[in-house]
Amino acid sequence: MSLMRAKISGLWQEAVVMMVDDEALLTDVIQTHLEDHGYQRFITCNEPTEAMALIRAHRPDVLLLDLMMPKVSGFEILSAMRADPSLMYLPVIVLTAASDADTKLLALEIGATEFLAKPVDASELVLRLRNTLAFKQYQDRLAYVDPVTSLANRQSFTLRLNQALQRLRENQGMLGLLHVSCDHFRQTRETLGSRAADELLRLAALRLQHLAASATEPGQASAHMEPGDVARVGEQDFAIAVPALHDADAASLLAKQVLRALSQPFEIEGHAIFLSPGVGVALAPNDGDQAETLLMNADIASAKARESQHKTHFEYFSAELTERSLQRLRLGREIRMALEREEMRLHYQPKVCMRTGRITGAEALIRWQHPEHGLLLPSHFIGIAEEVGLIGDISEWVMHVACTQAAKWHGQGFEDLKISINVAKPHFDEGQLCPRLEQLLQETGLPPQCLMVELTESMLVQDAARALEQMADLRALGVGLSIDDFGTGYSSLSYLKRFPANELKIDRSFIMDVATHDKDRAIVQTVVTLGHSLGMDVVAEGIETVEQHRILQHSGCDVYQGFLFSKAIGPEAFEALVKRHRKPPGAAWPPSDFTPPA
Ligand code: C2E
Ligand code: MG
Ligand code: MG
Repeated sequence: MSLMRAKISGLWQEAVVMMVDDEALLTDVIQTHLEDHGYQRFITCNEPTEAMALIRAHRPDVLLLDLMMPKVSGFEILSAMRADPSLMYLPVIVLTAASDADTKLLALEIGATEFLAKPVDASELVLRLRNTLAFKQYQDRLAYVDPVTSLANRQSFTLRLNQALQRLRENQGMLGLLHVSCDHFRQTRETLGSRAADELLRLAALRLQHLAASATEPGQASAHMEPGDVARVGEQDFAIAVPALHDADAASLLAKQVLRALSQPFEIEGHAIFLSPGVGVALAPNDGDQAETLLMNADIASAKARESQHKTHFEYFSAELTERSLQRLRLGREIRMALEREEMRLHYQPKVCMRTGRITGAEALIRWQHPEHGLLLPSHFIGIAEEVGLIGDISEWVMHVACTQAAKWHGQGFEDLKISINVAKPHFDEGQLCPRLEQLLQETGLPPQCLMVELTESMLVQDAARALEQMADLRALGVGLSIDDFGTGYSSLSYLKRFPANELKIDRSFIMDVATHDKDRAIVQTVVTLGHSLGMDVVAEGIETVEQHRILQHSGCDVYQGFLFSKAIGPEAFEALVKRHRKPPGAAWPPSDFTPPA
């Protein structure tokens, strides 16, 4: 495409110059002048009625247009061009013998870029043409180049890729497309600011360009890579096209080089930043013969690569990936939109004192009020949100809503209510939980002892030393700590005794069979004793029957939670329930007016 050719080469002389003038002699003279200055590509039109069709067919880089012509005037051609979105910005130098200001003004208003007086002065012509093309190049740069990295942007990359795919159809062969996606750009933007994130992008782009350049050396992946074959195609995504691939192995060689290059730390403002790159490889024509399809498939493969345990990994696209990955990409997008459209809800499941029947607090559990599928439980979206990097946004929303709501209840006189929130592993690992909660407590005025943080046992044992540090910080803040889903995470007793938790929640799987299986009953009894001996309150989650309740009460368990008393309910319903069920200490459970939910 001529636009791209002029942009990428940077040579004015490569531009396609079109001339529309009814006087053939004049166009000949102009062409000769320009040829003397190195221009080589011309389209001449001496029949103005055919001008528009020719412009549309050839899409020149610049148009020299005579104003006064028989049948169709230059004004009419200019107006028609400016009304056509695809020709709207094509630069037009108007040639006119008229020297009056009105004619010039009219031409400018219709959209002329420059003027040249007739008879045409050769040096003036060359100068104006060069200026016009320089300006066009600048505009093209804005439209086709990523301003941060100076790499091709997605739009220009797609154009080039489609051209390369067209050549592939004509000549046969194989084209490789690498989609490189890196986490941490977004995180860097959040923690160190935009300047640092842009710098990180620039440095990563440089490494990729360097790699692409060395790949053009003999024996490397490709013999025909050009600078425009590396592009920034998304916020934290790059793409590399290898137009003439020897074989699939050459693509994996390049993928490994990319991973190695991007896995070295980046030095940004005194911080060593590690990216976790994932590379997806799609091969044309097998995995798609259109640029967008190929880009999407390589993207899917890179998402799969980032899912892998090893993090720095590459993956080939395969047809089986499509359905699952497409669904996942779609869901990721939907979750992002749900947060923007405020479709998330926080429900509260009461926690009840075994001894007194008093509601001591609630566990905040997230729900998604989906416009089509109704109320969705977290199992439908929390896992995906973690994978697509949205768990931070969800956690932020949950913490904010829970603290605001808890502060409101505290202000209404429910001063001993404790509200628990669940924390996802990536959010805990990130290490920002404590400072953020401190800020939220300050903003909402919620006393720290009214907030509990639930951390699953499996989360704590994975990096126990680090978990211990964070737990100590949270305790110092004054919030309560709960070990959730206890019994499923294989924590050793030596760790357990060091975790500064206030509460141990026995996993629902043990409660489920407690009434029918002696072993579960024995385990539950042991956990209650263990929790108490370590100074923790013991909570049983998932109590559904009066029998389970009786056994747990008998075992000495302190608090329970479960459908027997209530499912998680909206904030208004929870508030009403607390008001109705606050009984004086010693009241028996179940109260005489209570009917378990269906
Ligand atoms: P969890 O923290 O163990 O929460 C308890 C789960 O057990 C909740 O499921 C609750 O509705 C369910 N449950 C409580 N009592 C009973 C019962 O008697 N019978 C049965 N069958 N189930 C009962 P839910 O709300 O679907 O949440 C599932 C998990 O999703 C939670 O497990 C928690 O790990 C996660 N989750 C929920 N909300 C959030 C959140 O705001 N942030 C994060 N990061 N994770 C959340
Ligand atoms: Mg929980
Ligand atoms: Mg649990």
